[in-house]
Amino acid sequence: MTVQSFTFNAFMTNCYVCHDGGEAVLIDPSCATASEQQHVVEYIDEHELTVRHLLLTHAHIDHIFGCAFFSARYGQRFQVHAAERAFIEQAEEQAQAFGVQIDPPPVPDTFLDEGDTVTFGGVTFDILHTPGHSPGSICFVDAASDQAITGDVLFQGSIGRVQGLPQTSRPQLMASITEKLLPLGDETTIYPGHGPSTTIGHERQHNPFLTSDEFRVTKDD
Ligand SMILES: [Zn+2]
Ligand SMILES: [Zn+2]
Repeated sequence: MTVQSFTFNAFMTNCYVCHDGGEAVLIDPSCATASEQQHVVEYIDEHELTVRHLLLTHAHIDHIFGCAFFSARYGQRFQVHAAERAFIEQAEEQAQAFGVQIDPPPVPDTFLDEGDTVTFGGVTFDILHTPGHSPGSICFVDAASDQAITGDVLFQGSIGRVQGLPQTSRPQLMASITEKLLPLGDETTIYPGHGPSTTIGHERQHNPFLTSDEFRVTKDD
């Protein structure tokens, strides 16, 4: 599986086109402007990709700016965990709170949860439910190539934010990292919602939120 990353909008949010055998999925359309949208369209057209699925790791405002545009262009809605539905319905309120504007995304009609799969080309994504930063955060795991698109759960050297956002839980976030992501194995490359890609092994060894007792939070906290 080829993973092409783009970084868009004032929040520096990653958008991913994953493809294999001429088929693609688009994950987190963070494009906030027509020129950002065009970058993604050009990549898809240049590589002659057929877009099979439009996917969201979660529905915070910085990850959904391009939903309306790509839904119209590729004739389908974005698939998301059901717990994110309200964020999409309230996209304009989310945008107002951050002082930005959004073309309201169509409300999804297909929802994904742990245990579901998404296929394109020769790839089968396993879905992991990884709440904490957002109640319906999900990760897309290609076990065959040891690659995963993980949203705002685990970053290079950091973890997803839980302050100043609705329906967050630090203990839930830590459980998602330790019980869902770390078991993917040290060789797995993760592509987060912000910042560069990294590996589970690198974060297990160097991420202060995983190595330092100061930051460690158990499920009892
Ligand atoms: Zn987020
Ligand atoms: Zn984000």
